[in-house]
Amino acid sequence: MAQQAIEIPGQLESRIQSLAASAPTQPWLNNTEKELLKTEIKQLLKENNAQLVAHYYVDDDLQALAEETGGTVADSLEMANFGAQSDADMLVVCGVRFMGETSKMLSPEKTVLMPDLDATCSLDVGCPADEFAKFCAQHPDRTVLVYANTSAEVKAIADWVVTSGNALQIVRHLKEKGEKLIWAPDRHLGHWIQKETGIDMIRWQGHCIVHDEFKTFELQRLKKQHPKAKILVHPESPADVVDVADVVGSTKVLLGAVTSMPDKEFIVATDYGIFYKMQQMAPGKKLYIAPTGSKTQSCNSCAHCPWMAMNGLQNLRDCLKNRSGEVFVEEQVRIKALRSLERMLDFSRQAGLVKVAS
Ligand code: SF4
Repeated sequence: MAQQAIEIPGQLESRIQSLAASAPTQPWLNNTEKELLKTEIKQLLKENNAQLVAHYYVDDDLQALAEETGGTVADSLEMANFGAQSDADMLVVCGVRFMGETSKMLSPEKTVLMPDLDATCSLDVGCPADEFAKFCAQHPDRTVLVYANTSAEVKAIADWVVTSGNALQIVRHLKEKGEKLIWAPDRHLGHWIQKETGIDMIRWQGHCIVHDEFKTFELQRLKKQHPKAKILVHPESPADVVDVADVVGSTKVLLGAVTSMPDKEFIVATDYGIFYKMQQMAPGKKLYIAPTGSKTQSCNSCAHCPWMAMNGLQNLRDCLKNRSGEVFVEEQVRIKALRSLERMLDFSRQAGLVKVAS
């Protein structure tokens, strides 16, 4: 069974590091400034019949605002589903670029804005469409499965798009049909899917700069300090970190674990933006951020995505006020990418993995 892994070139790695290091941070705001901005944003949302679609990893204020104003706070699967089923005229996506593109592709009639169009993702940057197309052309007998964290152009090459919330179910379905896969771009998620399903898979070697930094040694040290804590791990983390987890899964699965398990303490190996929702859903529980570095390792992310952190109240207000940060996807690309995206959403709705609008 093929389990070949395709290395990404060194210059792409340097580009990812340089983009992460230069991602701008949002200005610090006092409470009065925050309240004024929130009031203005609420008014602008009403005037534009707009809804906020926010990811679990963005700033707490943005998550709270999305909830207060009838938008959503969700993982990338539910974000895509929510936007597609929304009857708003405008979607304002607080997250990273591929999330805005996905919303636009599923809702071309809506205006889709983002606070900062430069908010990218190391997985997206690490999988350029031209390189990936060449690679796929060498394996025409394989079904092409890509993670949602990819550009519209990569989705246009794919047969299926998946998220961490539906990858196992979709891959098991493909395995039953006897299909062999090309997987891109996250190497750790691909390894985990392959291990869980046993499918024949060739993997691209991209990585998430946040999850790639979690360290087993440090995690075990924290566990010694909190022996009763259960370890929750997102599968974009390295295999040795996944191996020490009590629960492995998407952000939705990890949120479900904190609320449904009787345990009182959890060590969480994913972006700490999720703590807002975890504390809200399970207020009595103690949460510890999984360590990202040790004396021998460098910490690039400190458990928070530098591109998710580019979303703030000020640039959210600005994009609504000026109608800036609009997302466009070339129509030919959109039509091709839509096949793989709709396949994913149809499967997820039939499998009860996402809400279906009544
Ligand atoms: S946390 Fe990782 S996977 Fe998510 S947007 Fe940031 S770099 Fe991409």
